[in-house]
Amino acid sequence: MASIFSKIVAGEIPCYKVAETDNCFAFLDINPVVRGHVLCIPKQEVDYIFDLDDPLYDELFAFAHRVARAVKQVCPCRKVGMAVLGLEVPHAHVHLIPMQNEGDMNFHHHVQLTPDEFSTLADQLAKAFQ
Ligand code: AMP
Repeated sequence: MASIFSKIVAGEIPCYKVAETDNCFAFLDINPVVRGHVLCIPKQEVDYIFDLDDPLYDELFAFAHRVARAVKQVCPCRKVGMAVLGLEVPHAHVHLIPMQNEGDMNFHHHVQLTPDEFSTLADQLAKAFQ
Protein backbone atom coordinates (compact mmCIF):
# COMPACT_ATOMS: atom_id res chain seq x y z
CA MET A 1 0.00 0.00 0.00
CA ALA A 2 1.25 3.49 -0.89
CA SER A 3 2.51 5.64 1.98
CA ILE A 4 0.56 8.75 2.95
CA PHE A 5 3.38 10.80 1.42
CA SER A 6 3.17 8.91 -1.90
CA LYS A 7 -0.55 9.72 -1.89
CA ILE A 8 0.31 13.39 -1.37
CA VAL A 9 2.76 13.32 -4.30
CA ALA A 10 0.11 11.63 -6.45
CA GLY A 11 -2.44 14.32 -5.48
CA GLU A 12 -4.70 11.71 -3.90
CA ILE A 13 -4.72 13.50 -0.56
CA PRO A 14 -4.26 17.25 -0.08
CA CYS A 15 -1.23 19.07 1.23
CA TYR A 16 0.10 22.59 1.48
CA LYS A 17 2.67 22.30 -1.28
CA VAL A 18 5.88 24.32 -1.08
CA ALA A 19 8.10 23.02 -3.89
CA GLU A 20 8.55 20.23 -6.40
CA THR A 21 11.30 18.96 -8.68
CA ASP A 22 11.44 15.85 -10.87
CA ASN A 23 12.39 13.63 -7.92
CA CYS A 24 11.58 15.58 -4.75
CA PHE A 25 8.60 17.27 -3.13
CA ALA A 26 8.17 19.67 -0.17
CA PHE A 27 5.05 20.53 1.82
CA LEU A 28 4.07 21.95 5.19
CA ASP A 29 4.00 19.54 8.11
CA ILE A 30 0.34 19.26 9.11
CA ASN A 31 1.24 19.21 12.82
CA PRO A 32 4.04 21.79 12.91
CA VAL A 33 6.37 22.16 15.87
CA VAL A 34 6.73 25.83 14.87
CA ARG A 35 5.28 27.95 12.08
CA GLY A 36 7.30 27.20 8.95
CA HIS A 37 7.91 23.48 9.63
CA VAL A 38 8.40 21.89 6.19
CA LEU A 39 8.93 18.28 5.10
CA CYS A 40 11.15 17.45 2.11
CA ILE A 41 10.74 14.00 0.59
CA PRO A 42 11.97 11.98 -2.35
CA LYS A 43 9.06 11.02 -4.59
CA GLN A 44 10.36 7.48 -4.63
CA GLU A 45 8.91 5.60 -1.69
CA VAL A 46 11.78 4.40 0.46
CA ASP A 47 11.22 4.10 4.21
CA TYR A 48 14.69 4.60 5.70
CA ILE A 49 16.54 7.67 4.48
CA PHE A 50 19.93 5.93 4.57
CA ASP A 51 18.57 3.27 2.19
CA LEU A 52 18.20 5.88 -0.58
CA ASP A 53 20.64 5.37 -3.41
CA ASP A 54 23.50 7.88 -3.42
CA PRO A 55 22.27 10.15 -6.24
CA LEU A 56 18.77 10.46 -4.79
CA TYR A 57 20.12 11.01 -1.28
CA ASP A 58 22.35 13.81 -2.61
CA GLU A 59 19.46 15.25 -4.60
CA LEU A 60 17.15 15.25 -1.56
CA PHE A 61 19.68 17.18 0.53
CA ALA A 62 20.37 19.63 -2.32
CA PHE A 63 16.60 20.12 -2.60
CA ALA A 64 16.27 20.60 1.18
CA HIS A 65 19.06 23.18 0.96
CA ARG A 66 17.04 25.21 -1.54
CA VAL A 67 13.84 24.84 0.49
CA ALA A 68 15.68 25.88 3.69
CA ARG A 69 16.75 29.12 2.00
CA ALA A 70 13.09 29.85 1.25
CA VAL A 71 12.12 29.06 4.85
CA LYS A 72 14.83 31.40 6.16
CA GLN A 73 13.61 34.15 3.86
CA VAL A 74 9.93 33.83 4.80
CA CYS A 75 10.05 32.84 8.49
CA PRO A 76 12.10 35.08 10.77
CA CYS A 77 14.57 32.83 12.60
CA ARG A 78 18.19 32.54 13.69
CA LYS A 79 18.78 29.37 11.69
CA VAL A 80 16.78 26.65 9.97
CA GLY A 81 17.24 23.36 11.79
CA MET A 82 17.20 20.02 10.00
CA ALA A 83 16.13 16.70 11.50
CA VAL A 84 15.47 13.17 10.31
CA LEU A 85 13.23 10.97 12.46
CA GLY A 86 10.99 8.81 10.30
CA LEU A 87 9.42 6.90 13.17
CA GLU A 88 5.83 7.75 12.21
CA VAL A 89 5.66 7.78 8.40
CA PRO A 90 7.58 5.03 6.53
CA HIS A 91 8.60 7.31 3.66
CA ALA A 92 11.96 9.08 3.96
CA HIS A 93 11.67 12.77 4.86
CA VAL A 94 13.72 15.65 6.18
CA HIS A 95 12.16 18.09 8.65
CA LEU A 96 13.12 21.77 8.19
CA ILE A 97 12.31 23.91 11.23
CA PRO A 98 12.92 27.64 11.63
CA MET A 99 14.57 28.08 15.03
CA GLN A 100 14.97 30.95 17.43
CA ASN A 101 16.43 28.62 20.04
CA GLU A 102 17.15 24.96 20.69
CA GLY A 103 13.68 24.45 22.20
CA ASP A 104 12.12 24.96 18.76
CA MET A 105 13.36 21.50 17.74
CA ASN A 106 11.04 19.90 20.29
CA PHE A 107 8.91 17.28 18.52
CA HIS A 108 6.59 17.06 21.53
CA HIS A 109 5.52 20.69 21.13
CA HIS A 110 3.14 21.83 18.39
CA VAL A 111 1.53 25.03 17.16
CA GLN A 112 -1.90 25.43 15.60
CA LEU A 113 -2.37 27.18 12.26
CA THR A 114 -5.68 27.84 10.51
CA PRO A 115 -6.18 26.54 6.97
CA ASP A 116 -5.79 30.13 5.74
CA GLU A 117 -2.50 30.50 7.62
CA PHE A 118 -1.21 27.22 6.15
CA SER A 119 -2.23 28.30 2.64
CA THR A 120 -0.70 31.76 2.88
CA LEU A 121 2.53 30.39 4.29
CA ALA A 122 2.81 27.68 1.61
CA ASP A 123 2.26 30.32 -1.10
CA GLN A 124 4.95 32.57 0.39
CA LEU A 125 7.41 29.68 0.60
CA ALA A 126 6.59 28.53 -2.93
CA LYS A 127 7.31 32.03 -4.23
CA ALA A 128 10.59 32.22 -2.29
CA PHE A 129 11.76 28.80 -3.57
CA GLN A 130 14.25 29.18 -6.44
P1 AMP B 1 8.31 11.22 11.65
O1 AMP B 1 7.98 10.05 10.75
O2 AMP B 1 8.46 10.82 13.08
O3 AMP B 1 9.51 12.00 11.14
O4 AMP B 1 7.07 12.23 11.62
C1 AMP B 1 6.23 12.33 10.50
C2 AMP B 1 5.78 13.76 10.33
O5 AMP B 1 4.86 13.79 9.25
C3 AMP B 1 5.06 14.38 11.54
O6 AMP B 1 5.69 15.61 11.88
C4 AMP B 1 3.62 14.57 11.06
O7 AMP B 1 3.01 15.73 11.59
C5 AMP B 1 3.82 14.69 9.56
N1 AMP B 1 2.65 14.28 8.78
C6 AMP B 1 1.95 13.13 8.89
N2 AMP B 1 0.95 13.10 7.99
C7 AMP B 1 1.01 14.27 7.30
C8 AMP B 1 0.25 14.84 6.25
N3 AMP B 1 -0.81 14.20 5.71
N4 AMP B 1 0.59 16.07 5.79
C9 AMP B 1 1.64 16.72 6.32
N5 AMP B 1 2.41 16.24 7.32
C10 AMP B 1 2.10 15.03 7.81
